[in-house]
Amino acid sequence: RHRPTLEEIDAARTPFADSLWEAGPLVAADTGAPADRAPAQEVVSPATGAPVGHIASASPTDIANALSAATPWDAPAADRAEVLKRAADLYEENFGEIFALLAREAGKTLPDAVAELREAVDFLRYYANGASDDRPAAGRFLCISPWNFPLAIFTGQISAALAAGNAVIAKPAEQTPLIAHLGVSLMLKAGVPATALQLLPGDGASVGAALTASDRIDGVAFTGSTETAKRIRASMAEHMAPGAPLIAETGGLNAMIVDSTALPEQAVQAIVESAFQSAGQRCSALRCLYVQDDIADDFLKMLKGAMDALRPGDPWALSSDLGPVIDADARTGILDHVAKAEMDGRLVHRIPVPNEGHFVGPCIVSIPGIAALEREIFGPVLHVVRFKASEIDAVIEAVNATGYGLTFGLQTRIDDRVQHVTEAIEAGNVYVNRNQIGAIVGSQPFGGEGLSGTGPKAGGPFYLTRFKAPLERDARI
Ligand code: NAD
Repeated sequence: RHRPTLEEIDAARTPFADSLWEAGPLVAADTGAPADRAPAQEVVSPATGAPVGHIASASPTDIANALSAATPWDAPAADRAEVLKRAADLYEENFGEIFALLAREAGKTLPDAVAELREAVDFLRYYANGASDDRPAAGRFLCISPWNFPLAIFTGQISAALAAGNAVIAKPAEQTPLIAHLGVSLMLKAGVPATALQLLPGDGASVGAALTASDRIDGVAFTGSTETAKRIRASMAEHMAPGAPLIAETGGLNAMIVDSTALPEQAVQAIVESAFQSAGQRCSALRCLYVQDDIADDFLKMLKGAMDALRPGDPWALSSDLGPVIDADARTGILDHVAKAEMDGRLVHRIPVPNEGHFVGPCIVSIPGIAALEREIFGPVLHVVRFKASEIDAVIEAVNATGYGLTFGLQTRIDDRVQHVTEAIEAGNVYVNRNQIGAIVGSQPFGGEGLSGTGPKAGGPFYLTRFKAPLERDARI
């Protein structure tokens, strides 16, 4: 396959510089907007505040119509697979518009947008290959997705549910409905029946909550915060059939240990990528670094130097390698957290960012003692804890005690330590001597344990099985 060069990518996205996108619910047999649908709201760029388009949220009538129309996709598995692969091709062909929307609506830099499209396409092809005619429990799946991978995670959930023969009702994050609309439009264009894939944009608290309280939904795929997953679990228990599956991928308090044998350049690069890329808005992002105290001073000096080389700016510009956080609420929440640390004298380093939009300066905050984070700070804030060589088991204990278990990183050159730490740590994905970022669909399934998710891991051989049959309930979420 031809991989576009940066110049080709730039040429393809440029025509969309001034475009405005109009989008709304995609409901089968739609005969026009129902009377209770509110006027469309403006969507603006998190980097500049410039308008990106308008989105009409789903009304109660849209929701009722979508629930009545939803019909499992009963085409033979080979036909479903072919359609999903055609959708992958259409995603690739429309890369210019996709990159423009990812940059403008979600604040993604170009390298992030390239990686995101790649992942979305990989999900479509990977799950298409897993489509089978063995569908004991195909039904109506609700797919609720977050804004931080508004195309990749959104497409991953939907393509898995469709590959297993379900009907899908997709509820995208309120911050990124336009890219979701484009993704669904391309899947419908590829040949997914309109009754098998419908889009209901709108708030979690209204549209999302109404859907998770419907007894016409047979299962839910959810990616987002642990708090929302618990709310959805409770609503499903009250309203849906017993055993209705919840496939949840949730938050993390991801840690990394850097011991005194680690290669410093390698570890610094891994940390900068893991903590600050995508402005720290990845579920896998490094939140808490445990660095051995005898190297800590020199190591932090190197890390600060590497941070100073980051270039935050409008993600639409090719020169930027760090975008904004998603919205004003996110920015305020992160800045409050950093301000408290600063008042306590724990702000170690911060780099400047543009004044416009929702930028947050990547920063380092220290934590005294052998402690772990108490809550996820979803932004470019790296917490640092110093530990003594004798305290490594206390570090592992503190990290495990959080109850979260998404990603974990280790930088060391001691073989026994690799074995000891990777066996003792409770996390879905462990990264040794590399960056702590996501996974590769098909070869590195991704997902958390405990409060970080119900499993099985996305992009892995067992994921589709959960869309095919009722499940046991997970105890933690
Ligand atoms: P969120 O939980 O606020 O929202 C996620 C989705 O849930 C949105 O579509 C939202 O509208 C919907 N929602 C909110 N309340 C709802 C309700 N009561 N009923 C039904 N739906 C509701 O999360 P977010 O801020 O969009 O995303 C960030 C979070 O997602 C972080 O915690 C991050 O760690 C997590 N995340 C996890 C993974 C993973 O693979 N484990 C991947 C990406 C993001």
